[in-house]
Amino acid sequence: MKITSVKSHVLRYALPETLGYSQQFYTHRTAHLVEVQTDEGVVGWGECFGPGPVALANKAIVEGVIAPIIEGDNPLNKDVIWHKVYNLLRDHGQKGMPLQALSGVDIALWDIVGKVANLPVYALLGGKHRDRIEVYGYGMMLRPEPVVEMIARFRDEAASIRDAGFVATKMKLGLGVKDDIKLATAVREGVGDDYRFMADANHCYTTSDALAVGRALDELDAYWFEEPVAPEDHDGYRELRSSLKTNIAGGEAEFNRWGWRTLLESRGLGIAQPEVCALGGISEYQRVLALCHAHFTPVVNHVWGSAVAVATNLHLLAAMPALPGGLHPWEPMLEFDTTHNDFRDGLLKQPLDIQGQIKASGGYACAPEGPGLGIEPDRDFIAHHTIH
Ligand code: CA
Repeated sequence: MKITSVKSHVLRYALPETLGYSQQFYTHRTAHLVEVQTDEGVVGWGECFGPGPVALANKAIVEGVIAPIIEGDNPLNKDVIWHKVYNLLRDHGQKGMPLQALSGVDIALWDIVGKVANLPVYALLGGKHRDRIEVYGYGMMLRPEPVVEMIARFRDEAASIRDAGFVATKMKLGLGVKDDIKLATAVREGVGDDYRFMADANHCYTTSDALAVGRALDELDAYWFEEPVAPEDHDGYRELRSSLKTNIAGGEAEFNRWGWRTLLESRGLGIAQPEVCALGGISEYQRVLALCHAHFTPVVNHVWGSAVAVATNLHLLAAMPALPGGLHPWEPMLEFDTTHNDFRDGLLKQPLDIQGQIKASGGYACAPEGPGLGIEPDRDFIAHHTIH
């Protein structure tokens, strides 16, 4: 079996509303799908993390750099291919876009291997540790609106995410210490006392500002405080973790086993959030997961993007061993974007329908059962939304 082509599809549509986080507002949603074709007609799908123009740069890496390295190779040799590509790209980027590009290709190879073996990806990984996965809903994005209105909206949105059946919810931070504490207080009021909420700063604080917000989150009994400081600031992470009761979460901006080794050894993470579509794909995710567990750090995957990314994460979460295990073990969750996302809800011929699953089950979703990722993207939908 041989790889005959590696192609990127960059999709884009205008969101019904402007959304934002602590770094920027955005008006469009982008997705970057990778399609790997073989001489035997088996096709694999993957996804690369990276919004907007980053997706176009990653497409150039996928098609212009990685494709010529692996065309003609046997796609079943996915780990050999991973190392061949990484070794050739090492001098030009051990983190960032080269790894995001490799991630989408690697995921597509796992899809192919699963289809050839007639096994779902979770089975290739060793089987399901859980039949259903808890799902948390993130929303409460920043928007260009007055703070008073944002506070009221956060309170209402938090309540509606809870009422939709999600097991927990996550809000954005990013207005500055004083207003962020007001937003977090509104979210606690919205969800009530017996419900988990998390807060995501997208690395907008200094350590001292993060401490001030973190103390408020401690008072509000938040479950985790995500990316409080810059991802490079391992000392800041460690100081916050030793000072606060709320779990410190992060890692979505870290790459491969070597980046993760250093991050974990710095002991600043209470919860690790590896992003499979960025850090190097499923092959490298498995190594990062092993490293996290070797450091006794629980993992809740970072999830962003289309139905391809969501399906990939459902397989990974189903196949993740409990840490440390037990009769009532600590459980990971699927991160789910409750804002408008056609690339998740409209891309597949048979949608994952996570919203319907959680409504029916009280907050759970299942991994797809078909071979590989168990999904079939709709080519008409892709053609309609492709910008490149
Ligand atoms: Ca985040």
